[in-house]
Amino acid sequence: MSREPYLADRLQGFGTTVFAEMSALAVATGSINLGQGFPDTPGPAEVLDVARAAIGTMADQYPPGPGTPELRTAIAAHVRRFRGLAFDPDTEVLVTAGATEALTAAMLALVEPGDEVVLFEPVYDSYAAAVAMAGGVLRPVPLSPPPADTEGGVWTFDPADLRAAVTPRARLLLLNTPHNPTGKVFSRAELDLVAEVVLEAGLLLVTDEVYEHLVFDGAEHVPAATLPGLRERTLVVGSGGKTFSTTGWKVGWACGPAPLVAAVRTAKQFLTYVNAGPFQPAVAAGLALPDAYFTGIARDLQRRRDVLVAGLRAAGLPTISPQATYFAMVDVRGVQPDGDGLAFCRALPERAGVVAVPAGVFWTAGHADLGRHLVRFAFCKRDEVLDEAVARLTRMSA
Ligand SMILES: *Cc1c(COP(=O)(O)O)cnc(C)c1O
Repeated sequence: MSREPYLADRLQGFGTTVFAEMSALAVATGSINLGQGFPDTPGPAEVLDVARAAIGTMADQYPPGPGTPELRTAIAAHVRRFRGLAFDPDTEVLVTAGATEALTAAMLALVEPGDEVVLFEPVYDSYAAAVAMAGGVLRPVPLSPPPADTEGGVWTFDPADLRAAVTPRARLLLLNTPHNPTGKVFSRAELDLVAEVVLEAGLLLVTDEVYEHLVFDGAEHVPAATLPGLRERTLVVGSGGKTFSTTGWKVGWACGPAPLVAAVRTAKQFLTYVNAGPFQPAVAAGLALPDAYFTGIARDLQRRRDVLVAGLRAAGLPTISPQATYFAMVDVRGVQPDGDGLAFCRALPERAGVVAVPAGVFWTAGHADLGRHLVRFAFCKRDEVLDEAVARLTRMSA
C-alpha cells in the first residue's frame, strides 16, 4: 500500500476506501448502488416533522454538552422499554454525533497507547481507525461464514480463538451485535462466553447496537449489558440513524455506569462538543413511538431481505441470508474464476448494472484473504429498486 505523504503514521493505510471507488463506478455506469448501506426512503413523519418545526428556534443553537435533557430522558426510557436496562438520564446517558463518535470517543477515553482491543472480524469500517487513533492494538477474533445457500446457517467463532485473543495487555472488548457486515445476531450462549472472558480478564465492554431493531425471523437481540456482572463495565452504544432512516442526522448515544460515561464525555467534549440541535428533539420523538413502529420496520426490512436473497440465489449467486441489518453476503467462488470479490465487484457494473462492495475490506490489515471471496449487497432500498436490481442480475446469469 502506498504511503500518504502528510498522513501521520497511525493513520497510514486508512485513506483509500473501496466504497468511494464503487460509488463512483455506480454513477459512471448508471448502475443501481447496493454498495453503501443507507435507506432510500424518508423516515417516519412523526420524526421528520419535529425536526422541521425545530429549525428556526433556539434548537439551532448549542444544545447542552451531554445532549438535551429531553433526548437523554427519551434514550433512557427507550433502553428500559426494549432492553430492561435502567440508566439515569443525567449521569448515565450521553448524546453523541452518531454511534461513530460514541465509539471513537470511547476508544480515545478508555484505551491507553499499546492497550489491546478485542473484536470479532469482519469489523465495521470505523473500528480499526478509532482504535488506531487511540494508539490501541487490534486483537481480532475470526467469525466464520456458514456455507452459502444453507437455510438457517449462521456465522460462528471458535471459543479458543476468543480466549487466545485476550492477552494481559487487553483493555476492552468491542462487540457489534446485530453485526455489520455479516448480519449475525450473537446468541445468548455466545454472549455468555463473551461475558465469561470479559469478567475473567477484567475487561471493559463496548457494545455497538445500532441495528437493535432490525432483526429478522424471530431472532432475539440480547444486549450484553443485561448479562450478570456486565452492566457495571459496559458502554451501550446506539443510534437513531438506522432505526429512523436518518443516517445523515448523526444522532447517537452511549449509556453506561456514570464513571464510564463521564470518561467518554470528556473525549467527546473536544471532538464535536455538541451536534444536531434540531434533530435531538426529533429523535426523542422517534424513540417514544409505539412498539408497532419498531416491529414494523423489522418486518418491512425482512421482506426486502427475502426479495434480494431470493433474487441473488435465482441469479446463481450463492448467498448467506442474514439474521439482521441491511446486508446480505454473496460467496463469489463459484462464479468468479479466481474467487476474487474485488474483481467481481469491479466487473459487476459493466456486466449487470449493479454495484456491491467487496467484503475483504471489512477484515483487518493482513487478514483480507479471509473475506476475499465475499461480496456485500444492501437491501435497505425501495421495492422498485430491488426488483430492478434482481431483474438485472437475473439477466446477467441467463
Ligand atoms: C452505520 C453504523 C454505525 C454508524 O452509526 P452512525 O450513528 O451513523 O454514526 C456504527 N456501527 C455500525 C455497525 C453501523 O453499521
